[in-house]
Amino acid sequence: MSSSPQVTQLVDRFGRTVDYLRISITDRCDFRCVYCMSEEMTFLPRAQILTLEEIGFIARAFTDLGIKKIRITGGEPLIRKGALDLLNNLGKVESLDELVITTNGSKLEEMSVALKDAGVKRVNISLDTLDADKFKQITRTGDLEKVLKGIYAAKKVGFERIKINAVILKNRNHQEVTRLVQFAIDHGIDISFIEEMPLGVVNSHDRAEVYYSSDLIKTDLEKTFSLHSIPDKTGGPSVYYNIVGTDSRVGFISPHSHNFCSTCNRVRLTVEGQLLLCLGNEHSVDLKAVIRAHPGDMDKLKQVIIDSMQIKPEKHEFDLKEQPIILRHMSVTGG
Ligand code: SAM
Ligand code: SF4
Repeated sequence: MSSSPQVTQLVDRFGRTVDYLRISITDRCDFRCVYCMSEEMTFLPRAQILTLEEIGFIARAFTDLGIKKIRITGGEPLIRKGALDLLNNLGKVESLDELVITTNGSKLEEMSVALKDAGVKRVNISLDTLDADKFKQITRTGDLEKVLKGIYAAKKVGFERIKINAVILKNRNHQEVTRLVQFAIDHGIDISFIEEMPLGVVNSHDRAEVYYSSDLIKTDLEKTFSLHSIPDKTGGPSVYYNIVGTDSRVGFISPHSHNFCSTCNRVRLTVEGQLLLCLGNEHSVDLKAVIRAHPGDMDKLKQVIIDSMQIKPEKHEFDLKEQPIILRHMSVTGG
């Protein structure tokens, strides 16, 4: 075991540098998307989740250890009270190149200006359909109009980049991929299509039945758009294409059809303080236990993080036909 918290970069057993941390700051959400949550959710009790101060402390350990990009997510991060304070504090960390968030957009109309002021550079907004009824069916409780207003507000404040994330399910919204891309082009933003991942048990559909691959989406899009592959790596698993003649890019996140583990540069902090070394495996380290047993001990925390690199798995295994081996919902993990 190494004993030096002098380390300034996290490198795992496979030589991958880890410089990207995703933090779920709440498991709660104002939506109940069918691929993410069940209709009736039991959320975690307060004492079980990290306080915002604890999240800030852990984030500082990571930035000292060379993390350059932090994504704040959830659940819906913008419904956690104090989220802006946390973002303001993180926005002041000089060694951090990028502070970004993923949101369902429901609070963006009122919060975009404050987010920009806090130093948030890029925003990912989930939008699976432009049809208000379908939007309601997929999110169960969401209001499309409100989210669209949020997207317009985000555009207005001028984040460096805005990206739409769309999870595509066969016969729910696969027919809408062209329309969603046209929306992205019209608004000068990017879009990524995500294959559904078997995280947590959902009761609304059979995941194998609704699987719609990135390759199928790409074929659908190429009937209307010309896509040019670009080597653009945003530190994420997306494979990107420029939509010829536009400023917009389309990305594909394909955990099933294209394994992206060899270039994985990320780890995740769950709302319960578990450090997940891989989204598709149960390998984790309980950072909440460490900081609650050793309050304020930054060196101890850093050493545990450094040592955790030894258990980061080489790759994930997802099988849509099996019951999920990963029982965590995406909202706890931080999608
Ligand atoms: N509430 C925010 C939102 O919806 O953007 C942030 C959290 S959400 C868990 C982050 C991303 O995970 C969203 O883009 C969502 O579509 C995606 N997601 C949720 N469950 C998923 C699943 N089972 N498979 C693939 N993507 C999923
Ligand atoms: Fe909420 Fe995001 Fe999950 Fe939808 S995907 S239920 S908005 S956390």
